[in-house]
Amino acid sequence: MNENKNVSENDIYIEDVNYIPPLLEVQRLTKFFPVKQGIIPRTVGQVHAVDDISFTLERGETLGLVGESGCGKSTVGKTLLRLVHPTDGSVKFEGRDIVGMKRRELRELRRDIQIIFQDPFESLNSRHTVRKILSEPFIIHRLGTKAEREQKVCELLNRVGLDESAANRFPHEFSGGQRQRIGIARAIALKPKLIVCDEAVSALDVSVQSQIVNLLLDLQQEMDLALIFIAHDLAVVKHVSDKIAVMYLGQIVETSTSEDIYRAPKHPYTEALISAIPVADPTRRPERIILKGDIPSPILPPSGCRFHTRCRYALPRCSEETPLLELASDNSSAGSAACFFWEDLKLTHTQPERIASK
Ligand code: SF4
Repeated sequence: MNENKNVSENDIYIEDVNYIPPLLEVQRLTKFFPVKQGIIPRTVGQVHAVDDISFTLERGETLGLVGESGCGKSTVGKTLLRLVHPTDGSVKFEGRDIVGMKRRELRELRRDIQIIFQDPFESLNSRHTVRKILSEPFIIHRLGTKAEREQKVCELLNRVGLDESAANRFPHEFSGGQRQRIGIARAIALKPKLIVCDEAVSALDVSVQSQIVNLLLDLQQEMDLALIFIAHDLAVVKHVSDKIAVMYLGQIVETSTSEDIYRAPKHPYTEALISAIPVADPTRRPERIILKGDIPSPILPPSGCRFHTRCRYALPRCSEETPLLELASDNSSAGSAACFFWEDLKLTHTQPERIASK
């Protein structure tokens, strides 16, 4: 029986056989967490952790996802691996829908997508030796014999710059940087295509941070890895990202290439983040923009532009209408921004100017 009853013989379908979907395609992703109260808990509100965000990532590319603590960036990372189930929206990995995957498909998916957490001590089982920790991915996916797994553990330790003798030791016997190397070794064990680095270097000393970042970049080149680098600090992602998405209170407020976003930010929140990056030359130190007030509650986000309660350029329109994330390109830069006035602001993090009232 022909299932396509509505298809006329005259209809012409052109299927693009050469179409290769992006590695990752996130569309209108939303995650609300219920707020419960009472002895018999009932839902009294929703935490708008991630609210309608979209982006794509290609093979071998690095996306920096930046924003203050609590802006929803880590929830995005966990949603990509289905460690958190989204409320709405779609996440596709190589064209396959992650949101609707069953347990078995998810297990396969986690060979391709891995995550590295901020605190390697928390994410590594302290009662297991490094050998056991690094063998686990192979055991879970029933790969190799015991001898082959042993060989793989040695190769992984060498690859992340640790001695093979580390296999016999426990996580607490290592420094923070070494533990993060073990975390990276575990993440690359199954040769994934995408690694989500969730504040992976935030807890480390600056010198160790650069070693870990360099290790990740080397692995990226070697394995054609895509990376999502989640950080609260733009300085950390500055040199590693091809493109950057800035998040504020659950939404993406600006996206652009790494180069353009530092040279010509289009959103006042991005401008404030850039002004906080330390500059080596004291004579060229830009004005630090101190955002007034606390980050508003994600349970009851502000009306209109969510940033209007802290934006130094806010005008009455900003609290009444919601700016969409739209193309914000000029002669010298390209990107998208969710600000009504990005063209008038002409932001630079060194010489911000107040715009005229509209
Ligand atoms: Fe600031 Fe208004 Fe732009 Fe929002 S829309 S970032 S409040 S100027």
